[in-house]
Amino acid sequence: MTRAEPVPFSQAVESRILLRRLRDALQKAERGQARLDVITQIVSAALVAEVCSIYLRRGPELELSATTGLNPEAVHQTRMRVREGLVGRIAYTAEPVNTKDAPSAPGFQYFPETGEEIYKSFLGVPIQRLGEVLGVLVVQNRLARDYTEDELHGLEVVAMVIAEMAETGAFASPSDPALPPEPRAMPHHSRGLIGQEGVAEGYVVLHDPQVIIANPVADDPTAERGRLHAALSALRGEIDGMLEADYLGEAGDHHEVLRAWRMFADDKGWIRRMEASITAGLAAEVAVEREQSETRARMARITDPYIRERLHDLDDLANRLLRQLSGHARPEMPEDPVLVARNIGPGELLDYGRALRGVVLEEGSVGSHAAIVARALAIPLVIQASRITREARAGDRILIDGDQGIVHLRPEENIATAFRAKIDMAHEAQAAYAVLRDKPATSRDGVTLGLQMNAGLMADLPSLYPSGADGVGLFRTELQFLIRPNMPKRAALAALYTRILDAAGEKPVTFRTLDIGSDKVLPYMTREPEPNPALGWRAIRVGLDRTGVMRMQLQALIRAARGRPLRIMFPFVAQFDEFRAGRDHVLKMRDREAKLGHPVPETIEIGAMLETPSLAFAPDQFFQMADFISIGGNDLKQFFFAADRENERVRRRYDTLNVSFLTFIEQIVTRCDRLGTPVSFCGEDAGRPVEALAFAAMGLRTLSMRPASIGPVKRMIRAVDLAAAKETIDMARGSGAQSVRPALMDWLRTVGAPVKPKS
Ligand code: PEP
Ligand code: MG
Repeated sequence: MTRAEPVPFSQAVESRILLRRLRDALQKAERGQARLDVITQIVSAALVAEVCSIYLRRGPELELSATTGLNPEAVHQTRMRVREGLVGRIAYTAEPVNTKDAPSAPGFQYFPETGEEIYKSFLGVPIQRLGEVLGVLVVQNRLARDYTEDELHGLEVVAMVIAEMAETGAFASPSDPALPPEPRAMPHHSRGLIGQEGVAEGYVVLHDPQVIIANPVADDPTAERGRLHAALSALRGEIDGMLEADYLGEAGDHHEVLRAWRMFADDKGWIRRMEASITAGLAAEVAVEREQSETRARMARITDPYIRERLHDLDDLANRLLRQLSGHARPEMPEDPVLVARNIGPGELLDYGRALRGVVLEEGSVGSHAAIVARALAIPLVIQASRITREARAGDRILIDGDQGIVHLRPEENIATAFRAKIDMAHEAQAAYAVLRDKPATSRDGVTLGLQMNAGLMADLPSLYPSGADGVGLFRTELQFLIRPNMPKRAALAALYTRILDAAGEKPVTFRTLDIGSDKVLPYMTREPEPNPALGWRAIRVGLDRTGVMRMQLQALIRAARGRPLRIMFPFVAQFDEFRAGRDHVLKMRDREAKLGHPVPETIEIGAMLETPSLAFAPDQFFQMADFISIGGNDLKQFFFAADRENERVRRRYDTLNVSFLTFIEQIVTRCDRLGTPVSFCGEDAGRPVEALAFAAMGLRTLSMRPASIGPVKRMIRAVDLAAAKETIDMARGSGAQSVRPALMDWLRTVGAPVKPKS
């Protein structure tokens, strides 16, 4: 901890007097420059300093924005880069500098226009809010002077108040361009990563509370302390309630987070520091934010993942405490809401539901649960959008381009217009696809493909008929397990699966058994940390080792069918024995159900996902035993190329239309055909028209994809002659090309097929 421990009473009283004086003077001062000037006057007088200056951040620089003592001509003239000089050093490190010999201090730089060469002593503190440095507050004296800890603390408290005021725009002045613009008023563009494709226009709804504190200085510390403690005990009650509800979680991650929260909520150091800030004259909310600033500053410095996680927990806890203090419940939903959050759990995201037009996260990863849910909900998602939670205000207009990972906040009109044209085009295309809904995906030379949809939630099922999908080719059952804080019960699962089958009616649904591990970690299941989770204990490997969960799920599926046909497939099968063992469990559960007198499905088809190259070379008997095979291209591709599907650096490095990969797919299809095993493809690539065409040319006849992709893929297939496409691919393969894409794209253009620049 870099900050001083709680201050003695006498100093707290002084600090309070200073803050009150400041507040009263500021209330009288005009907005803008006058307020900054008043602060420097009052602080220089209170600390008996010949100089007091405020430097505010303007982009990458700091600008002398007000001073008492330095040359007034230098105001709005003197600028330094972050890291430059002592002021820049404070802004960079977010740490105070206290020296009685400034010229000898590391990093010192002299700005002649300010006339500061005569001042030897220097005390500067960062003006920061929630981990972001907004400026620097400095006092200077001619004589060598040791500024005391109390003085440092007093200056920090003033800096806190300045930060809060800057946040409310107290120093901005529309008539004075020399001053910083109103915070969060200008357009802001952010480039993040693609979480889920699609475009959306709407209005910001903030997931985390954004507490704008109108009055950071509090008159009555006793009352503020009372508010803080009331909020703390409400917070403890809230966490206790969550812990109680988490009945299974004696060791899971989720439980660990709750326990960490519970522990922090009692942490004496944390509470004492907040109390000290209140005693010094700050409002309870500012005291909490001050702690958050400190936590976030530490987070930026620390690389140890465990400690960072705990700091994250503490930050989340502070958010909850702020919510208690400010009485903020769930944010109001504007029309066309676009959710903006630092990060979000899958359950929370699902609570917002399909009403959301889009989601923008400041953190998050492509494979995170939130991304999985956003994908399942088909909501455009941009992740790692820098500064978005800092810049966005509730209700701001926002455009999100999930195809490119771009976010426009408070966009200029020309950007909005161009964007709307893109949305209109997408709508027109959807309308054109709707016309194709009841037409078959038959190529010009008469080959018909089966197009199915991928799903993971009950909420997906309404898309089944409107999308024109022939069935659900992949139902990812893990979502129900991921989005809850505890293990779902068999009866609840069976009821859900029944509803899914009911909603699907005549169309088949292929349920994939629980695919957890790797990126999909159940919050309530104990796991050893693994050096390489994608190659670790996941999917059927977990199922076969923890048969209780697998059998419970199989039983739920068998019961849910209520005598109807059932299709089940096992994920991530790497060798024949795994499939055989999984299949045996299904058959045993079916027999047991029959013995118990429950109706059993009239047929059970049991398949395997081919997601590891090894399975392609399994014995013939495997292919003969499997009722069907579904190629999980997302995983298969990552293992084929040894390129992590979640690692931005490599995940797009190898083209799906790479000759090696396509040839491998072709070999799998040929083998399945020879042995009479129906084969389909259900990875994300199936939904990309050019890739889908290439797969069809390699012999695949069933593809499963997101419902929104069915239209575009169908349009492509209907527009081409498949044999000619295959010829083009074969020519490219023969030419030594690395990928068949260039040749295929050229050919598509010549035949006038519908190709987008990026499909
Ligand atoms: C795949 O790997 O292609 C697949 C469909 O499974 P998931 O994306 O859920 O791992
Ligand atoms: Mg997979």
